[in-house]
Amino acid sequence: MSADLQTAITYLKGVGPARAETLGKELHIYTYNDLLYHFPFRYVDRSHLSQIATLDIEQPFVVLRGIIRDMHTVTSGRVASRLEALFDDGTGQMVLVWFQGVKWVREMLKTDVPCLVMGKPGRFGSQLQMSHPDIEPLTQGDRPGHQFMPVYSTTEKGKAHGITSKALAHMVDTLFSQLDGQVAELLPDEALQRYRLMPRHTALRAIHFPRTAQEMQQAILRMKFEELFLMQLEYQYSRVARRRLSQGYRFNTVGDNLNRFFHEKMPFEMTGAQKRVVHEIWNDMRSGRQMNRLLQGDVGSGKTLVALLTMLLAVDNGYQACLMAPTEILATQHYANFERLLDGMGLRVALLIGSLKAADKRLLKQRLKSGDIDLLVGTHALIERDVHFARLGYVVIDEQHRFGVEQRSRLWGKSAVAPHILVMTATPIPRTLAMTLYGDLECSVIDELPPGRQPVRTLHGTDAQRLKLFDFMRRQIDAGRQVYVVYPLINESEKSDLKDLMDGYESLSRAFPMPRYRLSIVHGQMDAAAKAYEMDCFKRGVSHIMVATTVIEVGVDVPNATMMVIENAERFGLSQLHQLRGRVGRGGGAAYCVLMTRSDLSKTARERISTMCGTTDGFKIAEADLKLRGPGDMQGLRQSGLLELRLTDLVDDEPVVRAARDMVGEILDIDPELTQYPMLRRYIAQHTSQQQWGKIS
Ligand code: ADP
Ligand code: MG
Repeated sequence: MSADLQTAITYLKGVGPARAETLGKELHIYTYNDLLYHFPFRYVDRSHLSQIATLDIEQPFVVLRGIIRDMHTVTSGRVASRLEALFDDGTGQMVLVWFQGVKWVREMLKTDVPCLVMGKPGRFGSQLQMSHPDIEPLTQGDRPGHQFMPVYSTTEKGKAHGITSKALAHMVDTLFSQLDGQVAELLPDEALQRYRLMPRHTALRAIHFPRTAQEMQQAILRMKFEELFLMQLEYQYSRVARRRLSQGYRFNTVGDNLNRFFHEKMPFEMTGAQKRVVHEIWNDMRSGRQMNRLLQGDVGSGKTLVALLTMLLAVDNGYQACLMAPTEILATQHYANFERLLDGMGLRVALLIGSLKAADKRLLKQRLKSGDIDLLVGTHALIERDVHFARLGYVVIDEQHRFGVEQRSRLWGKSAVAPHILVMTATPIPRTLAMTLYGDLECSVIDELPPGRQPVRTLHGTDAQRLKLFDFMRRQIDAGRQVYVVYPLINESEKSDLKDLMDGYESLSRAFPMPRYRLSIVHGQMDAAAKAYEMDCFKRGVSHIMVATTVIEVGVDVPNATMMVIENAERFGLSQLHQLRGRVGRGGGAAYCVLMTRSDLSKTARERISTMCGTTDGFKIAEADLKLRGPGDMQGLRQSGLLELRLTDLVDDEPVVRAARDMVGEILDIDPELTQYPMLRRYIAQHTSQQQWGKIS
């Protein structure tokens, strides 16, 4: 018989209602299953002994073997204030100290018998000491304990209520002896066999109480595979189900708009990658199934044209299409681009942004509702509740990481049948992440830049080189080029950030005086009209230097800009730096990026800057970012569930991620409803009750 892991933790021997409450509140352990999956975060290797004579007190944790020679209670006044024991391991001596539970410890401790002492070493004056160590007797002839002792995470509050790492180990041990039968296998046989994985019951036991290093490794591998497999199963199952079930508009006709655009308006030859991707999207749109596709393409790879060509297919089939961008600047720019590209074709293109006058907005919404608009470009103003489309067939979301999941899901409510959806992003995502994160989306990649692009030469500079920098900028401008100078404004309300920007603007104004030079400035505290005016000056080449915060990060296109200076570059994430840098080098000709930093950089900061100087490959940069900062800091990952992976290291475990993904793919290919896999079916039923739309992007 197999054990029921959903049993409430109160039923475990030694866990009453009070402890159960602490376990739930502090560690989210409510059931047997939760306890089993509260894995140790490290192990103490009991066989790895340190010696007092050569003890390095900087170590966080050591294991010593020796004998307690002597104990005495130190009293202050009448109360016993601490217990001290003299411990000798044959190479030297140290003092063990207890400030709490003195009486109880004194009764437990035995002198003159061999024992293991474990804890963080320290020093008090010239005396080596350890406070509140763990002590384990080593009675001779006794069965030697396991080599590895599990160490569990817990909270201060948990500890105060008796939920220590040791108590947790004890509970897990009790649970195993109390389990009625084996923990049932979840993974299919073919996975166990192909990758020679430990059975679930054995692995769970061994991950808590490994007997050997090898057993530990195998248990961890098995549980890692399991977590990735189940995550993939959730993603891919819903993708497959949606592909089979979800009806979509069928865009069969290539009509006048596309034909005219191709023959008369196409501004340049598409790259091979652009062509391929456009066809992937068109095929989806013709399939009768609703499309959910992610389009990844490095900055400057030409995603906008792909968006436009696919939007025209929707229009040719009698539907409206919209493009949603994260900032007004970007939306306005897309709109202007579309107007220019579609000029004279008789298409009705409109722009909806928050700063429109109320009357204009009202009119626009009416036209939209009556079907009087074909292509709508806008910001999140698009998803306001009172925006209704007559026949919305296709939604493109640009730079998706800027939109929250909840915001995106509001769009689906805007048409009876879910519209086709394309999510475009320039944030390069390491392959492992893409595989896990977007298992439920079809994926297209533009892996080719338009011809003539030069890699941006990236240099590192500090204040000492500022005059040289100004000289260099001057030479660029005198050659007819334009320059961005970017300041971090991490927090809009951070006064010092804004001050940095203003100070920088002032000193640039002095170094580049009017009337020979003109500067533009854009930051978050300016109103939309002022921003648009400044952007426009720069775009038209009227101003030479654009001083800006990260508002220009996303998508702004000024091909004549060939140089970017990024101030306080150490404060930006790598992916963000990469995006920024992508603003230059678009117009052909050599392009430069200078990363200005303080001179006293930390080691990590130095590594990040040198990564940026060393490569312009977005995927390499994303991987370096992941390695240096961990996934917690990556944009868009917070709500993804990826951070719940307990064992997987997204950088190092790529082969396991791949194996799990492929295995799930194979199973779903043959048996999309999982009829042969009742355990997996049950798992899916328990885990996909949430609304499906929320997971789209
Ligand atoms: P992103 O993928 O970053 O959104 P854009 O769509 O803004 O890139 O394109 C970047 C620049 O490259 C634009 O100036 C665009 O006109 C140009 N471009 C796009 N596709 C091509 C192409 N096939 N050949 C030449 N230039 C192109
Ligand atoms: Mg873009």
